[in-house]
Amino acid sequence: MKKIDIVVPCYNEEEVLNVFYRETSLIVDAIEGYSFSFILVDDGSHDKTLHEMKELAKAHANVNYISFSRNFGKEAAMLAGLRYSSGDYVIIMDADLQHPPAMIPDMLKGIEEGYDCSAARRTSRKGEAPVRSFFSNLFYKLSNSLTNNRLPQDAVDYRIMTRQMVDSILTLTEVERFSRGIFNWVGYDTKWYAYENVERTLGQTKWKFSSLLKYAIDGITSFSVKPLRMVSGLGFFISAISFLYILITLIQTLVFGIDVPGYVTTLCAVLFLGGIIEVSIGILGEYIAHIYLEAKDRPVYIVKQTSIDNSKE
Ligand code: UDP
Ligand code: MG
Repeated sequence: MKKIDIVVPCYNEEEVLNVFYRETSLIVDAIEGYSFSFILVDDGSHDKTLHEMKELAKAHANVNYISFSRNFGKEAAMLAGLRYSSGDYVIIMDADLQHPPAMIPDMLKGIEEGYDCSAARRTSRKGEAPVRSFFSNLFYKLSNSLTNNRLPQDAVDYRIMTRQMVDSILTLTEVERFSRGIFNWVGYDTKWYAYENVERTLGQTKWKFSSLLKYAIDGITSFSVKPLRMVSGLGFFISAISFLYILITLIQTLVFGIDVPGYVTTLCAVLFLGGIIEVSIGILGEYIAHIYLEAKDRPVYIVKQTSIDNSKE
């Protein structure tokens, strides 16, 4: 019998965890030929999430938990779950039931057909704040034009992967992780399953606009150096124009003598170039930040307690 691990990152999910377990179990228990187990990852929750996990683990032999020493973020929680997993297949899904467990039997069929991965994508974003959808679309457009890693629009972190694919993902040792990019970068054949967005009914979203923005910038700078090239390109372009302008001004001065007005031109040039220089330094800074964080090589998360002892760490 094939073993499937379900990795669930959880941050302050006390309200949903039990419902999640019940609903998901109902679905997976009906699937024949596989044994399912849960790896619940407590990402430093401040509520009773860990307590709920322990209760579930006590009551059900197929439930395990990993608990972090503080909140390290969903990326860290997913990584921990993958590292601790040992199943032939691994499912990653959210705890808030926005990733419908009812899709598991279908997604499993994709794997049985020979795909390495079955992944979900949302066909609609109904119920989502329009500003969030707008920036999300903008991110996908930007990311796809700036990186070679073409992220399928509206892909979510809900997928089943084979052991081989999970192991490949784990060979990527970067500290600043952008999983959607990594899942795509490792390659393998993915079958996509569309579903209608499900609104969160219990608990609330953990994402703030600032964290989404950071996520988007990391997503692009982790997979592409094109922004850097664009900065040098812009530099060359502006230098060329400036050179022409210098030539014209020089000739004008030599032929017609010194022309006093020029206040506006000077001001425009100074402000325009100042702005471009600031932006360029900012872009450089993003990459330096990546180098800095990777060079420190700090662990992505710290496990405080867990019910699993077969970790490969
Ligand atoms: N999550 C986490 N750590 C965090 C933020 C979120 O483990 O720092 C988990 C959260 O418990 C949930 C999943 O990641 O299971 C998705 O989070 P959320 O529902 O808040 O995001 P959204 O669905 O709004 O994108
Ligand atoms: Mg959610």
